[in-house]
Amino acid sequence: MTKLQDEIKSGKLQLLLDHNSVQNRIRGLAKEIIHFYEWEKNELVIVSLADGANIFTSDLVRLLPFKLKLYFLKVSTYEGTNKITKSVLNIDGLIGIENRNVLIVDDICDTSETLNSVIETIKTLKPKTIKTVVLLNKNVKKEFDIKLDFCGFNISNVFVVGFGLDHNNYYRNLVDICILNTG
Ligand code: 5GP
Ligand code: MG
Repeated sequence: MTKLQDEIKSGKLQLLLDHNSVQNRIRGLAKEIIHFYEWEKNELVIVSLADGANIFTSDLVRLLPFKLKLYFLKVSTYEGTNKITKSVLNIDGLIGIENRNVLIVDDICDTSETLNSVIETIKTLKPKTIKTVVLLNKNVKKEFDIKLDFCGFNISNVFVVGFGLDHNNYYRNLVDICILNTG
């Protein structure tokens, strides 16, 4: 069985952010989020963009002391390291959004196309507010003017895996965030 450690040794995977730094930053994000919503009367609804954000979301929501709803919305934009056209979002399962505070959780913001389409779709459900939290923000030209309300780390334009982020569904179980060298 190939071990992830072997791919780190060979240079295929290159450490970018270790597990401890990621966990520390998630604790920081949770504090920012708690501070922001603490005095809100209306309920919080978390919409997590599966599958990439699953692990980040699991860690983050367990640090939030609020009674909240949690939805996972399936969106996928990458096949290998190539971008593909997204499938239309199915929001049929999102119930009780009207007049609630929606927090969209994603693993990484690249061109911002995904967040933009999710925000536009969720707006049709008439929430009170829509905010965004991403673990990573890539330093690339954004296609849309999206505000990242809470952001873990700014990174350069590299393809990363680990901590839920995949390449063809591999590497999600890597505890650190690594750059994937495909060449
Ligand atoms: P955007 O629509 O902002 O261009 O792309 C965002 C989505 O593409 C993210 O939710 C993520 O699923 C995927 N993505 C973007 N960059 C990366 C990356 O470096 N690694 C991985 N694994 N996925 C990425
Ligand atoms: Mg994603």
